[in-house]
Amino acid sequence: MKAEDPSRLQPITDTSVALSSRLRANTRGEVLFDAASCGRYATDASIYQVVPVGVFVPTDDADVRAAIQIARELKVPVLPRGAGTSQCGQTVGACLVIDGSKHLRSVLALDVDARTARVQPGLVLDHLNAQLKGHGLWFPVDVSTSAQATLGGMAGNNSCGSRSIAYGNMVHNVLGAHLRLADGAALHAGPLGSLGGRGAATARFVQALADSCRSDIEARWPHVMRRVAGYNLDIFHPQSERPYTDDGSVNLAHLFVGTEGTLGFIEALDLQLTPLPRAKVLGVVNFANFHRAMDSAQHIVKLAPTAVELVDRTMIELARANPAFKPVIESALIGAPEAILLVEFSGDDRAALLTTLHALVELMGDLRLPGSVVEMPDEAPQKALWEVRKAGLNIMMSLKGDGKPVSFIEDCAVPLEHLSEYTAALTDVFARHGTRGTWYAHASVGTLHVRPILDMRRDGAAKMRAIAEEASLLVRKYKGAYSGEHGDGLCRGEWIAWQFGPKVNEAFRAIKHHLDPDSVFCPNRIVDPPRMDDASLFRFAPEYRTIDIQPVFDWSAWNVQNDPTTEAISPPGSGGDSTGGLAKAVEMCNNNGHCRKFDAGTMCPSYRITRDEQHLTRGRANTLRLALSGQLGPDALTGRAVQEALDLCVGCKGCKRDCPTGVDMARMKLEVQAQRHARRATPLKDRVIGRLPDYALWASRLPWLFNLRNRSRALARFAQRVSGISARRQLPEWRSDTFTRRAPALRLASRDNLLSVHAAGANAVVLWSDTFNEYFEPDNAVAAVRVLQAAGYTVHAACGSNGRVPCCGRTHLAAGQTTLARTKAQALITALLPFAERGIAIVGLEPSCLLTLRDEYLVMGLGDAARTVAAQAMLFEEFIVREARAGRFAPEWNEAEQPMLVHGHCHQKAFGLMDGVLAALRLVPGAQVSMIESSCCGMAGSFGYEAAHHDASMRMAELSLLPAVRAAGDSIIVADGTSCRHQIADGASRRALHVAQVLAYHLAD
Ligand SMILES: Cc1cc2nc3c(=O)[nH]c(=O)nc-3n(C[C@H](O)[C@H](O)[C@H](O)COP(=O)(O)OP(=O)(O)OC[C@H]3O[C@@H](n4cnc5c(N)ncnc54)[C@H](O)[C@@H]3O)c2cc1C
Ligand code: SF4
Ligand code: SF4
Repeated sequence: MKAEDPSRLQPITDTSVALSSRLRANTRGEVLFDAASCGRYATDASIYQVVPVGVFVPTDDADVRAAIQIARELKVPVLPRGAGTSQCGQTVGACLVIDGSKHLRSVLALDVDARTARVQPGLVLDHLNAQLKGHGLWFPVDVSTSAQATLGGMAGNNSCGSRSIAYGNMVHNVLGAHLRLADGAALHAGPLGSLGGRGAATARFVQALADSCRSDIEARWPHVMRRVAGYNLDIFHPQSERPYTDDGSVNLAHLFVGTEGTLGFIEALDLQLTPLPRAKVLGVVNFANFHRAMDSAQHIVKLAPTAVELVDRTMIELARANPAFKPVIESALIGAPEAILLVEFSGDDRAALLTTLHALVELMGDLRLPGSVVEMPDEAPQKALWEVRKAGLNIMMSLKGDGKPVSFIEDCAVPLEHLSEYTAALTDVFARHGTRGTWYAHASVGTLHVRPILDMRRDGAAKMRAIAEEASLLVRKYKGAYSGEHGDGLCRGEWIAWQFGPKVNEAFRAIKHHLDPDSVFCPNRIVDPPRMDDASLFRFAPEYRTIDIQPVFDWSAWNVQNDPTTEAISPPGSGGDSTGGLAKAVEMCNNNGHCRKFDAGTMCPSYRITRDEQHLTRGRANTLRLALSGQLGPDALTGRAVQEALDLCVGCKGCKRDCPTGVDMARMKLEVQAQRHARRATPLKDRVIGRLPDYALWASRLPWLFNLRNRSRALARFAQRVSGISARRQLPEWRSDTFTRRAPALRLASRDNLLSVHAAGANAVVLWSDTFNEYFEPDNAVAAVRVLQAAGYTVHAACGSNGRVPCCGRTHLAAGQTTLARTKAQALITALLPFAERGIAIVGLEPSCLLTLRDEYLVMGLGDAARTVAAQAMLFEEFIVREARAGRFAPEWNEAEQPMLVHGHCHQKAFGLMDGVLAALRLVPGAQVSMIESSCCGMAGSFGYEAAHHDASMRMAELSLLPAVRAAGDSIIVADGTSCRHQIADGASRRALHVAQVLAYHLAD
């Protein structure tokens, strides 16, 4: 394939044209048939890529029914999809993909007394559990992807959580399934006695089949609970160690759990809910030997824990290397163990749980491991430790280079008594193939996750097959299940016949034919699947290539390769990436879908308001990957599809922090803007905003003139027509009393940097007032000076060689004007370097400006000087807290009289700096400080001021920030970002204050 050859995307055919136009004419759903949309739905969290014919996002069941009918008539297969977090390629196919996650997400009925709920398939598990919490209930299939996974997808995959030993898999918790079949008929599946019509006929058919294969089922069916392969033909004669129902009755719904969308579209599910346990205790068992850990699992489960989860030495070390996790993991360790098992007991009787925890300690003594248990009876440390276990996996997945941990035998399940031998033998298999795996997860049920590092662009496929073959022999030897958690999809489909034998496999085919004779739903899945190593299905096939470009930023840290056995990384720039590392940075997105979240954290505000794959970090990364690999045609990087995907990215850097693999879309957007700027004329709006620091001095001399636009609606409308700046927005007001003009009255040290730096004493600090705090809100800088001086600091104001305040160049960066930005950056570094070289702190007020020095400046080719300045650059509150902790900051305070409610700027959150803001405010005696759980405020630099983005901006703000501010009563609203303060003023008519102003206000005179 040539780099610019777009042939890997689905060609437009008469059928696809007819399909899209009929969908548009006959439904209310979104019809997405363009190349980029199809490309975004061509992948899931697997190694595969298959481009769909088109994508349909239905608004309701009627849309789904119409789409199935139209697709069937045009002979286009249909593939249902939820969050697309499957690891085996279940949600990719040359089909019409129907994405139910955007609109089909309601709880249709809830019966608290009967503890049942009826839900639509696109409802996310965490969202269901949030609604149940108040009733003391939950749906206990606690998959790791609970913040993303939809109930429909969980049913499709027969998903299983960490606590499956106590609560079972999805199949054990589904009471009924309501399906739309290929021929348009409805099928209601539930308890056998309740069935009628299609349901009853299907039950009769399947029972006859099951009877005809009874001896094969008995002989071939794995008896472990964690078996999710094929169809559940054993519902009439259960083989699992945990039967499908408690009373031995048969429920036809269980046949449809784990069918991976191959038999019909699930329109609704009836779920069995469980009371929330009132208490939990945790025992962390430390093992000096990995295999002792594996061997002990079979004994530990006899104490009836709700989870037994493994963390091996590699993960322990990864957690130890992270400053945030180090104290947490170390609190669970005794010495330097090779592995730990997290053993959780939960229930309503805390005293009984504590007794069981002591029983665990005794058990380990009996197993000749006395003193090996760290007891954690309290929930806070337990929670922290569970977070570490999750994060360890994420760190593992963030391995740079083309070799990646690949999931294909990651969930084989073996009986516990063989776990030790199995893991030892598989470790040997990895070693023979020149790789290794890190082990983690569900020791309680014999399902350990392990992903050998393979390079699918080179020899990965051959190794994958060889390892899979050897692993399958081990699974057979130990009478386990080859597919134990994540489903079959493309990577395990071919092992179904191997697992169950020809007769049962033919029975699966018969079921498929009975319900879907024309293979409308997901053809070649479960029945007649392709080979797992069919390279034409790979995301990174051996012929995968990237285009040649010269990136503007330094991406060389990603341009590396790794050693699969040691995970050692080659030097930056040595990875052979034709885009200088940009492509490899983009390819770090493994589609795990973590960015589809609505809980704490910033990522991803544009997805939160749209629920569109296009406006999601994952969707953007996929669009960029397709563009960089030429799959969207020539010049796609600067073309429309990429621009549209990035349009609502507010550059909040939420993904930089929250994405498990560190996809930094904010920087990628700057890179694309720069590439675009180099090829196309810059729009007037971008020039007006980019150049703002250049005309700021003039504007401050004639503020009445520049502020006229805020006084006249006609002028505002005219300005919108010319520049695209929204007439609905008040712009920040220019001030004539800039910080520089007020400086003489402030007892600052000399504003000549060289004189100043030589005179600087031990208590010197440099205050850098950025363009916004200089010209629009100088009171913040004045307040900062007051606070610093009250604590005895000599404040030096940064200024350039022309006597003006140097700007960081951020506005140029956002506009793609990197040459201008670099010039500005150079000037600022020159101004600050003399101080930085003497170790004098450089304090800034505006998070987005100051943190540019610590982020973008380091990848703009500015050399060591940039690193020296970055090392001393800190936000005002960071400095205050550092000094207070060192006992050097102790001004006199007045008591706080009002509570303080803080909204964090996205970049503060991305750099993990919010604790500093809270700590600084808590220096005020009696301060009651709390955080608003908010994502981006929606203003995001110039984003919210643009007419085209005004609505999106307000919707982001309304997600949680503005409602919280409106409900804040007499609290002081604190926000360090200038844009955030303006958004709060615009949207809630409340004045928010910079932390410097709040502290200055509380100074005792
Ligand atoms: C980092 C990571 C951790 C994971 N941890 C776990 C874990 O702890 N336990 C676990 O079991 N899995 C885990 N998974 C796998 C995956 O997240 C789960 O299987 C999840 O339940 C899939 O939900 P989804 O909404 O993403 O479904 P999708 O991936 O979108 O779909 C899953 C299947 O369901 C079918 N489907 C979806 N909607 C419908 C519908 N309306 N009608 C019929 N069929 C439908 C699809 O066709 C597909 O076959 C993990 C994945 C990742 C990336
Ligand atoms: S962008 Fe990050 S969080 Fe989102 S799917 Fe990709 S890797 Fe996961
Ligand atoms: S920078 Fe913010 S808006 Fe852009 S993709 Fe990342 S989280 Fe989403």
